[in-house]
Amino acid sequence: MADDRKGLGVTPQGEDFSAWYNELVLRAELADRAPVKGAMVIRPYGYRIWELLQAELDRRFKETGHVNAYFPLLIPMSYLEREAEHVEGFSPELAVVTHAGGEELEEPLVIRPTSETVIGEMYSRWISSWRDLPLLINQWANVVRWELRPRLFLRTTEFLWQEGHTAHADADDAMAETLRMLGVYAEVARDVAAIPVVQGEKTPGERFAGALATFTIEAMMRDGRALQSGTSHYMGTNFAEAFDITFQDAQGQLQHCHTTSWGMSTRMIGAVIMAHGDDKGLVLPPRLAPHQVVIVPIGKDPDVAAAAANLADEARRAGIRVHVDGRDVTPGFKFNDWELKGVPLRVELGPRDLAAGTAVLVPRIGTGDGPPVKETVVLADLVGSLAERLDTFHDQLLARAEAFRAARRARVDTWATFADAVVEGWADALHCGQPSCEDDIKAATGATPRVIPTDGTPEDGSCIRCNAPSAWGTRVVFGKAY
Ligand SMILES: [Zn+2]
Repeated sequence: MADDRKGLGVTPQGEDFSAWYNELVLRAELADRAPVKGAMVIRPYGYRIWELLQAELDRRFKETGHVNAYFPLLIPMSYLEREAEHVEGFSPELAVVTHAGGEELEEPLVIRPTSETVIGEMYSRWISSWRDLPLLINQWANVVRWELRPRLFLRTTEFLWQEGHTAHADADDAMAETLRMLGVYAEVARDVAAIPVVQGEKTPGERFAGALATFTIEAMMRDGRALQSGTSHYMGTNFAEAFDITFQDAQGQLQHCHTTSWGMSTRMIGAVIMAHGDDKGLVLPPRLAPHQVVIVPIGKDPDVAAAAANLADEARRAGIRVHVDGRDVTPGFKFNDWELKGVPLRVELGPRDLAAGTAVLVPRIGTGDGPPVKETVVLADLVGSLAERLDTFHDQLLARAEAFRAARRARVDTWATFADAVVEGWADALHCGQPSCEDDIKAATGATPRVIPTDGTPEDGSCIRCNAPSAWGTRVVFGKAY
């Protein structure tokens, strides 16, 4: 991968954030464009990030009582039509199979855009008594939503995700589940991806098609825009009524279940790229980094190569994901390449270091906004310190993202300051809750209501745009969104 261009050849963020993103995804070998427009090939480096994210999510799903199952890719068209809002919401994005086995099908099949309907059908067969509840199932799957304006990881026609689907005896239990899983997403965002998020509810205009309430985690990207990074929906009895998911309660009465669904997708990789990346490339949170540490041997001394291999073995035994870069290219090229790929810690080991019993350690970022600081470390102590250094790196990355968000999130009380705030980032403002007023704000500024924060301070007043009384009892976060 020879590159004659100076530096990375990636457009600086400040010049064109969108170009920076697209070029970086390709150059860092996270993904590539597929032959079908809107589809994406996830390359091994990107897929490893997904595997690590999957493992963190899956462990937490199991700890909260869920089990995995798998439902079919193809769903009868009539199933989607049973829930009116659901089919209306998804129709423009559906891919429909009309021919198979050399014949036109009697009933068209849709490639799942999400699986509420087929899972609802199965739940109606599996649930009969209150003793069957709650039913807590997750599936790892691909889904297809036809995408007219595709962007790698953020909006692709086919993407990977998990979808949790649960059935409960009553509204309280279903709502508790909805919020519990939102909390799991927020925890994974913060503790695994080092991304601070705002948890809360969507306004009705941003709800999932068929849900009574949609909750979201919203993250700020480094261009100030918001990215919806995971959602959790309370369906009430909408899907239970459409699919006849009923149970006999303890008194022998037949009742409809209350259902939920919740999902996080490969979009989260887009969040990691845009929440942390800089002009040198990716910055990966250690818990999602395919290589947490890269060792770069300097020169061709066989003793250095052997020492690097030993160091890597020792680090692997200590549970660190480590890679030795033995490629026949210059150290400078390797440094740039691993910075581009966002590896948290780089170890440089040359003959003089080895003779002195030391190595040079370079973190991908410095503290605050400062540059990374090189450190000479004693080789014998290095491996023992890596786990703690990676934790520190995670904390620094999270703190940096929090500081960035704080600097670009403003409480605003006038329309003029609102319009300015959403150019740079987010505005916390009171809103009347009227969809027409939301539309008006979007037309004027490009900003939409992202989330009504769960932990928002109670506050009433008048709408930032139309002066009607505020509707949500707290401020709503507005911003431009991906
Ligand atoms: Zn208003």
